[in-house]
Amino acid sequence: MSTLVIEGLRASVAGREILTGVDLEVAAGEVHAVMGPNGSGKSTLAHVIAGRSGYEVLGGSVRLDGAELLGMPSWRRAEAGLFLAMQYPTEVPGVSLLDMLTESVCTPEGAAVAEQMRAEAGRIGLDEQFLQRPVNVDLSGGERKRNEALQLGVLKPAFAVMDELDSGLDVDALRLVAGRIEEATEHDGLGVLAITHYSRVFAHLRPDAVHVFAGGRVQESGGPELADELEADGYERWTAALPAPQEEATPFTDPFGDPFADLLA
Ligand code: ADP
Ligand code: MG
Repeated sequence: MSTLVIEGLRASVAGREILTGVDLEVAAGEVHAVMGPNGSGKSTLAHVIAGRSGYEVLGGSVRLDGAELLGMPSWRRAEAGLFLAMQYPTEVPGVSLLDMLTESVCTPEGAAVAEQMRAEAGRIGLDEQFLQRPVNVDLSGGERKRNEALQLGVLKPAFAVMDELDSGLDVDALRLVAGRIEEATEHDGLGVLAITHYSRVFAHLRPDAVHVFAGGRVQESGGPELADELEADGYERWTAALPAPQEEATPFTDPFGDPFADLLA
């Protein structure tokens, strides 16, 4: 039985420590919700698990079936069975979704991939024209999210990190997309780390565990009822004791100032 184990994960970006010791364990077939306020480091967690560049890992480990993912390039992590559905899926001009998935699946039966893609598109209500179009280029937020779900359906990863899957999806699309992922957990044993700050997605993708994420780590874990509590009361109980988030200094240039003032000073 496969398991994703995150232990003592610490990471910084632009010289600031964002992840301050994350501990999480997700078994195959389980859905774990990670819920936290804006800026708490949820997307950073997703990016560090997937191996996005620009993040410095300061300590800890991320293991998929015992194999250490940290240090592997992203494509090796994907090969090991990891999938990331991004909060803001990236545009890839010049590469169609069909080409991308045909290369990713890496089998000689390209036609079978196209067939699978059409079947998956039908299940989540994505128009087939998107299979031929460049990945995410000029797509709405909701279409991008369906695109991510389609990729998951075809690639059949062991584990998926879904970052704000619900953002951009209307209620009907959310039902289809979240329902498709729920089905993958039941039939293919997919393990899911579902990052979100709203609990509406959990009407269709039922969590086995809910983790409150604040200040760069898990502050409390519980059952699905914790998501309802958060929806009702907010995050203040967990954020009140934390140091105020550091604002990044934005250099200010007065557009009406004297452009030569520096030279004369
Ligand atoms: P969340 O997803 O919980 O809203 P993020 O992980 O996106 O939070 O961001 C956590 C903090 O890290 C924020 O203060 C954000 O500004 C900062 N941060 C994230 N990525 C970068 C980056 N590439 N450069 C500088 N700061 C970053
Ligand atoms: Mg985020």
